[in-house]
Amino acid sequence: MEKTLVLLKPDAVQRGLVGEIISRFEKAGLKMLAAKMVTPSENLANKHYPTERREFIEGMGQKSLETYAEAGLDAKAELGTDDPHEMGLKIQGWMVNFITSGPVMAIVLEGQDAIKKVRELVGHTVPAKAYPGTIRGDYSNDTPTLANKEKRPIMNLVHASGDKTEAEFEINLWFAPDELRA
Ligand code: ADP
Repeated sequence: MEKTLVLLKPDAVQRGLVGEIISRFEKAGLKMLAAKMVTPSENLANKHYPTERREFIEGMGQKSLETYAEAGLDAKAELGTDDPHEMGLKIQGWMVNFITSGPVMAIVLEGQDAIKKVRELVGHTVPAKAYPGTIRGDYSNDTPTLANKEKRPIMNLVHASGDKTEAEFEINLWFAPDELRA
C-alpha cells in the first residue's frame, strides 16, 4: 500500500469541483486517510514549491520554454527571459501567489500504486494536452502560453505527488502526525 498527497487547488474549490474530484479517486479504489481545507501561508507554499530544488525549477522553466517554441512565440520578448532557471523562478512565484489566494483541499490517499494511479487519474500537467476522462482533461483546457500571458500558473485543478520521496515529504508538510492517525 502506498500513500500520496493530493491538493485540490483554489481553482477546483472555487469552481465547486471538490466532490466530483474526490469521488473519482474513491471510485478508483483509493481510500481517503486524511483531509482538510486550508488557505496556505506563503511559508507553506514556498516549502511545497521549493526554489532551492534546482532541478524542479529549471525543469519547469525548460518545459515552459519548449511550449513557447512549440507555439512559435519568443519567450524572451514575451517574458523578458529565455533562461530556464529564471523562467522557473518566475513560474514558482506565480504558483505561490495562486495557491495562497484561497482555500485548498489537502488530502492523503492510500492504495495499491497510489502515486502512479492518482497521476493517471489527474492527467497531463497541461490541460489542453490531457486526455478526456482525466480530471484535467475533463475540467480544464488551459495552456502555458495563455497562463503565462496573464502572469499566472496553469489552472489544472489538482496537485499530486510525483514519487515516493515527494509523497512522504509533502504528506508531512501538509499534515501534523495527529491528523494522520485516522
Ligand atoms: P504537475 O503538477 O503535473 O506535477 P509540475 O510539477 O511540472 O507539474 O508543475 C507544478 C505546477 O506548476 C503545475 O501543476 C502547474 O500548475 C504549474 N506550472 C507548471 N509549468 C508551468 C508553466 N509553464 N507555466 C505556468 N504554470 C506552470
